[in-house]
Amino acid sequence: MSLITVGTMAFDAIETPFGKVDKIVGGSATYVAYAASNFVKPVQQISIIGYDFPEEEIAELKKRGVVIDGVEVVPDKKSFFWSGRYHIDMNSRDTLITDLNVLEDFNPIVPDSYQGSEFLMLGNLMPKLQLSVINQLKVRPKLIVMDTMNFWMDIALDDLKEVLKKVDVLLVNDGEARQLSGEVSLVKAARKIIAMGPKFLIIKKGEHGALLFHENHVFFAPALPLEEVFDPTGAGDTFAGGFIGHLAKTKDISFENMKTAIIVGSAMASFCVEKFGPERMKEITKEDINERIAEFVRLVNFDIDLV
Ligand code: AMP
Repeated sequence: MSLITVGTMAFDAIETPFGKVDKIVGGSATYVAYAASNFVKPVQQISIIGYDFPEEEIAELKKRGVVIDGVEVVPDKKSFFWSGRYHIDMNSRDTLITDLNVLEDFNPIVPDSYQGSEFLMLGNLMPKLQLSVINQLKVRPKLIVMDTMNFWMDIALDDLKEVLKKVDVLLVNDGEARQLSGEVSLVKAARKIIAMGPKFLIIKKGEHGALLFHENHVFFAPALPLEEVFDPTGAGDTFAGGFIGHLAKTKDISFENMKTAIIVGSAMASFCVEKFGPERMKEITKEDINERIAEFVRLVNFDIDLV
């Protein structure tokens, strides 16, 4: 079962209450690939990098079954750069710098070898480019999942609304759901966003878990209460990678299976935040993942005797 992933491969500068890094590998597609490759191979990556993106990182990704035929290398430009500072609660952050660099004239090309893929993960990227990838696919994938962020809502809302008409699942955080819908209530926001196109909506609430909306149904998955959250960067993308990775592995896109996929995504995200950048994602094993998923099951499992 193959999966196409689209998004940024980047450098990040991150400041959290616990530390600071000036230059670390990041990017939406990087995190998605690290997470999804635990469940499905090949992960067919579409992105763009500059001369400065580390070869060792590409080698790490390849080792995990990530195919990079769709990753363009621009020899005379820098990779995308993003910098953010987290607030004390680590649930919210301010973007300090977004340097598009190579992204400025990115025109993603879907390699022929990627055609026929059944799952498409549109990671956070310019909506116009997300749309271009959908339009290049000769056969519509079985499931298209889209991630986005407030940055694109601010500067490319019309394009974003066009993509929304073509996707099955949208992932946003609570603030973004409110911005997109103009509603404070997340239930009302969900109804409005689903009317824009996606049949399923996932609203991520950081350490407060995630909600899955579909028709009149809603499902809630908690986040694992962790003693230490070191760096939340990439948690959303890692969640997305685990979510679509599980769906692609099981080939089941029902609402019931999406509930499990949300737990898998939450488990993957819980690893991501334990270290700066994607470092923790490189260390974890199948056993670690299974144990973490079992922890989630224990967290929400209870008996009740009604009198
Ligand atoms: P997350 O914490 O899951 O929202 O993702 C953080 C990652 O998204 C970082 O590694 C950034 O490099 C990347 N990123 C930040 N801003 C953007 C943007 N506007 N478009 C695409 N990727 C971005």
